[in-house]
Amino acid sequence: MDYKKYIKIVEDWPKEGIKFKDITPLMANGEAFHSAVDEIVEYAQQKEIDVVVGPEARGFIIGCPVSYSLGVGFAPVRKEGKLPREVIKVDYGLEYGKNVLTIHKDAIKPGQRVLITDDLLATGGTIQATIQLVEELGGVVAGCAFIIELSYLNGMDKLKGYDVLSLMRF
Ligand code: IMP
Repeated sequence: MDYKKYIKIVEDWPKEGIKFKDITPLMANGEAFHSAVDEIVEYAQQKEIDVVVGPEARGFIIGCPVSYSLGVGFAPVRKEGKLPREVIKVDYGLEYGKNVLTIHKDAIKPGQRVLITDDLLATGGTIQATIQLVEELGGVVAGCAFIIELSYLNGMDKLKGYDVLSLMRF
């Protein structure tokens, strides 16, 4: 399916110079959203996934229907202070300042095969931090799936050695 027609590009948002890729029109179209989720499910079915992990907030939107369809669990990765029980955390740099991501300590059992999902791969910082959390818990990152990859930001450089699916590239 040609998904690009469902992506709205918003100039200068959230700040000047950024061309934000808005996936909400894709989500709003039942056929397109269903097809996108199904493609990720088909990819995951070849990888014997035990659990799906996604960073907030748009990683949930993609990861939850995928985990439901696979019949496996979903574990959220959230910003600091949002998860109620014992967590492990990772700091990672943003363009300006830093961010902290956390996951519940018991979200993944050692040896479990994990699919990581997010809406979009930009610089790769978010996915790299998510991978770090999964691996610290002993999980095996069997694949990473995105709706969009912004090739010009070279996020794939941070994913060397990992299996990656992107449904479209800009
Ligand atoms: P990265 O850490 O630089 O790869 O940025 C990826 C994260 O930022 C993902 O969690 C995305 O949801 C979010 N993000 C960055 N740029 C965009 C965009 O243009 N559209 C939607 N989300 C974006």
